[in-house]
Amino acid sequence: MISVQEAQGLIRAGVNPLGSETIALSNALHRVLAEDPTARIAHPAHTISAMDGYAVRAEDVSANSTTLSVIGESAAGHPYAGQLESGQAIRIFTGAHVPNGADTVVIQENTDRDGETVIINEIEAGRHIRPMGQDFSHGDTLLISPVRIEPRHIGLLAAGDHPWISVFRRPRVAILSTGDEIVLPGEPRTSNQIVSANGPALSAFVKQKGGDPIHLGIVKDDEDALVAIANAAKSCDLIVSSGGVSVGDRDLVRKAFGQAGLNVGFHKIAMRPGKPLMFGHLEGTPMLGLPGNPVSALVCALLFLGPALDRLQGLAGDSPSTTLAKLGADLKENGGREDYMRAVLSSDGDGTMTATPIFAQDSSMIGALANSNALIIRPIGSPAAKTGEAVQVIRLDGLL
Ligand code: AMP
Ligand code: MG
Repeated sequence: MISVQEAQGLIRAGVNPLGSETIALSNALHRVLAEDPTARIAHPAHTISAMDGYAVRAEDVSANSTTLSVIGESAAGHPYAGQLESGQAIRIFTGAHVPNGADTVVIQENTDRDGETVIINEIEAGRHIRPMGQDFSHGDTLLISPVRIEPRHIGLLAAGDHPWISVFRRPRVAILSTGDEIVLPGEPRTSNQIVSANGPALSAFVKQKGGDPIHLGIVKDDEDALVAIANAAKSCDLIVSSGGVSVGDRDLVRKAFGQAGLNVGFHKIAMRPGKPLMFGHLEGTPMLGLPGNPVSALVCALLFLGPALDRLQGLAGDSPSTTLAKLGADLKENGGREDYMRAVLSSDGDGTMTATPIFAQDSSMIGALANSNALIIRPIGSPAAKTGEAVQVIRLDGLL
């Protein structure tokens, strides 16, 4: 049995980034950048006004209440074509080009307009001007790959005049649920059958992580059927199965995939929930065999499938980040498996976070997982812990 951290290391090492493709920026949200885009335009593209007011020459306004003649207007998209001379001002608006000859914008609150003249009551030389390229210049590197693209990155790429962008290809992930007892939600079923929670949840997880889930359906606990599906799944970028990887007589995934050519890297990890977890390669395609219990399957997806999907998309494949919280209840000592306890994380008002383990820690209880928002991590051999002690937690919102 290997540790969670060793397993994550082996997955990181055993999964390689896919190629890239060019897509429209409008489709780039949550994809991973595969190039280091440079600005095709400066930002701002011209020297512009940051305020509504008057563009002037600061040297003209040596005394308070200087009167200047207003010779024209510069609005965003409608610059003043001429030159500003001594004793003159130009009415200007936010985003408008600062006219040649002007070096300062006086905000309109500090002026009094009177027909064709304006009285400048107060000036700060050089203020309220955004020089061309203040944010970035033409040719500057905007972002460095790999970055998972978020709305602010879209804004930057748009501002740098990129209508399209190169991103890592979406991983095609074959998802199969195994078990004689499993049917899809809504399908006719006998009293001996249960509904698959894992297939739909894993598909959603893959999608959320930028992958393209290909649901191969439900496979019976039958060696020939499993060998056939293994062969069908080979051409994907990653194979994910759930169920059938434990040690029971009906747990045939390892055997059948072995017949199809799977090289097993590891098949057991020292964690709870989810001891049986298999990772290997089927003719070069990585495969993750998740346990059947829904909580085990999804916690393992968070810890192992997520990093694998990140790796395929060019990212490092880091484990989910953790944060410190105060324990909301006493805990017994932990044994020889790292424990990921379902918990409710709440804010105490003063900003400190308290993580309270929920009562139901059974790995079949998807209801308990869905109503939790954090996992408390208990390392192997942790001593008993008291309410109020600090623990590491993984927040689930936005991740699982
Ligand atoms: P297994 O790993 O195949 O022994 O399955 C462990 C437990 O998880 C059994 O109670 C199965 O019925 C259940 N299980 C397996 N696959 C799924 C699934 N797709 N959705 C919900 N429960 C499942
Ligand atoms: Mg089974």
